[in-house]
Amino acid sequence: MGGASVTANGGIQVDMSKTRYVLDPHTRVRADYTFVSHAHIDHMHTPSKSERIIASSVTNELAKARGYDLGDTVEAAEGVELLDSGHILGSRAIRIGDEVYYTGDASGRARAFLGKCKTRQARILVMETTYGTPDYVFPSTAKLVKEVNSLISSAYDRGNPVVLMGYPLGKAQLLSYYFSSWDPIFYHEAVAEMNRIHMEHGVPLKAGKRFDPSEDMDRLPHGPWLMVSPMASGRSRLMAHLKKKYGAVLVAFSGWAMGSGYKYMMGADYSFPLSDHCDYQELLDLVQSVSPEMVYTVHGFAAEFARDLKKMGFSARPLAAYQSTLSDYEV
Ligand SMILES: [Zn+2]
Repeated sequence: MGGASVTANGGIQVDMSKTRYVLDPHTRVRADYTFVSHAHIDHMHTPSKSERIIASSVTNELAKARGYDLGDTVEAAEGVELLDSGHILGSRAIRIGDEVYYTGDASGRARAFLGKCKTRQARILVMETTYGTPDYVFPSTAKLVKEVNSLISSAYDRGNPVVLMGYPLGKAQLLSYYFSSWDPIFYHEAVAEMNRIHMEHGVPLKAGKRFDPSEDMDRLPHGPWLMVSPMASGRSRLMAHLKKKYGAVLVAFSGWAMGSGYKYMMGADYSFPLSDHCDYQELLDLVQSVSPEMVYTVHGFAAEFARDLKKMGFSARPLAAYQSTLSDYEV
């Protein structure tokens, strides 16, 4: 069997034997198989009818709920193996033969109902490197959850509500899970919809009150409550209103919160580095476990991480044409 080649072509293009695979394309690309790793919008495109899409059935369902019809998807194809990437519900990495392993977005640690990224040996590793510099080594999730619970407890003691903000698919369900002991709990409608699908797949999330910002902005109770909301600036109309009228405390969750400027950029009162991606050390561990001859890096600190890998003796380079901007992350 001939070796695989990897190039950037609207997605990550893998040619192996006579078969062409395109991984997480932003646009339609002609290929024998198209792989969609997970249902975040930056990994989504509207496929043509003839595309043969490899994705988990949960990704298909979540994509449909977000307005992307992937049609009939398959979870297996000859020589192809899907592995849990631990990023969000339904997210998968793909291994093509024993030649190529592509992580998609991946997490290196188990969180709540999510496991960590499963790896297999491959000759070529294509990996996400969102947080591929040593500045991004995340604290333990248990420590972070404890700190947030104590913050919520103080706010409740003062009679203030708390708004927990994270992207609506993935992060918001972790927040709903970790902080479910607080009452009453409101879910922004975008979060409630994603929670519903998680619950249908057996994730034990607490039923809460649905919050529709177009109708309910002035109908919230005064006194303490918890809300799980999509990420929004503290200067946005909704968040400014919740602060002014109810005295809400705004807490933002993102890996970028390792940077001291993040909280100010978001206009949040607090921020915590709860991430659904590998941190720097976890990225290094992932490379070790795949033990590749060649590494291609995509997203975030792709050039920096490839440079570090080269210093460690790996062959590595960024797949430059597939770079995205910071604003693409965690949608
Ligand atoms: Zn993602």
